[in-house]
Amino acid sequence: MSFVEAVAAKRDGEELNRDQVDAFVRGATDGSLPREQLAAMLMAICCRGMSAEETNWLTQGMLHSGEMWDLVSARPDVVDKHSTGGVGDTVSLILAPLLSAVGVPVAMMAGRGLGHSQGTLDKLDAIPGWDSTRDRDGTLELIDSCGAAIIAQTDEVAPADRTLYALRDVTATVPSLPLIVASIMSKKLALGAGTLILDVKWGSGAFRKTIEDAFELADALRQVALDTGVRCEALITDMNQPLGSALGTACEVRAALAVLEGKGDPPLREATIRLCQEAMVLRGWEKTEAMSALVAALGDGSARAAWERMVLAHGGDPDEDRLAQPLVTYEVTAPESGHIISCDGEELGRVAAAVGAGRRRVEEELAHGAGIVVHSRIGEVVEKGQPLATLLVGEREVDTIRTIDRIRGAFEIGSESVAPPALVVGTVDELAGNFSGQ
Ligand code: URA
Repeated sequence: MSFVEAVAAKRDGEELNRDQVDAFVRGATDGSLPREQLAAMLMAICCRGMSAEETNWLTQGMLHSGEMWDLVSARPDVVDKHSTGGVGDTVSLILAPLLSAVGVPVAMMAGRGLGHSQGTLDKLDAIPGWDSTRDRDGTLELIDSCGAAIIAQTDEVAPADRTLYALRDVTATVPSLPLIVASIMSKKLALGAGTLILDVKWGSGAFRKTIEDAFELADALRQVALDTGVRCEALITDMNQPLGSALGTACEVRAALAVLEGKGDPPLREATIRLCQEAMVLRGWEKTEAMSALVAALGDGSARAAWERMVLAHGGDPDEDRLAQPLVTYEVTAPESGHIISCDGEELGRVAAAVGAGRRRVEEELAHGAGIVVHSRIGEVVEKGQPLATLLVGEREVDTIRTIDRIRGAFEIGSESVAPPALVVGTVDELAGNFSGQ
């Protein structure tokens, strides 16, 4: 059967067989299929969807297209964490040392910023000397020396995903659920940790805009993990506004340090603790014991000490004073008094990227001192003239008047009070009964 027939079958809503899915992945990996046929199949999948079985075959095919590190066979208790991306999402920087402080080792392959969300690797690059490049042996050394490895994805991991992801980006096929699941899980399974905690965001700043859609993604991701023998739980969390108050690179490192020192933004602290707690439950801890251990580690300096070990092991300088500072800051004030009705996290994330926390071209340098610090959250009351946010300007040239206007415009102020959205909606297990037909 030619691949064109497979494309036609999917276009007409038929299920692909394993050979057809394998041919698709092989074609993406070794270039044996023309890009127009790959693109046509992506669009057919995007429009027609895939069954759970087809999605599993696609994930397994993409996983086997490159190196598989199989960390679980070398270090069975290692935990990996994945977030579907958001704004002010500093969780990974806190979760890794915090879990390590309570004796749960962590290994994560992290990414760079994409669109409006800032990447964990970019944030860590704000630490002078930090180096995320490690192969499998180097990652195992990091796990053994500091209990928390945060490394960059290598070119050898899931090469089929690199080709398909780039094609999805230019063919309007990024939002397809099976394509997202296979893309994320092929990379997670390639690292091969035995335990995986997923943070699936919903809301205006996430790419799943409703709780139902986030649940559908969380459930599908988790199912692939469970089918592969990985212990996995997924939490659905809020991204209708930035999670933490800092949006940028160095400022997010400072925000992480504040939480690790027992202070920091309450929402960022709470979301991180909940994710750590679920990860510990997967590792066999009792829920309340896990919570007590986490709160103790944040209060007694052990999480902060684990951060220092983690930074040193990655070649970084843990001296907070060496983090980049903004060259100049501007307060963005409320134009009127009232209640914060909404806060457009996606727009704030785009602004933070534009002022220096993201790249407009692949080779562009980040301005680590730049970013935004948000002072107001949904449901709060503000007075006219009160600061809503602070714009941090670093080494990149910025049109300050326009940027301040964009930040101010991201906050909707009204006369009616609104309830803030719940920070943590629940786990897939807890929510399963709420979504009929799932
Ligand atoms: N992250 C990924 O790695 N892939 C997707 O498709 C979406 C988010």
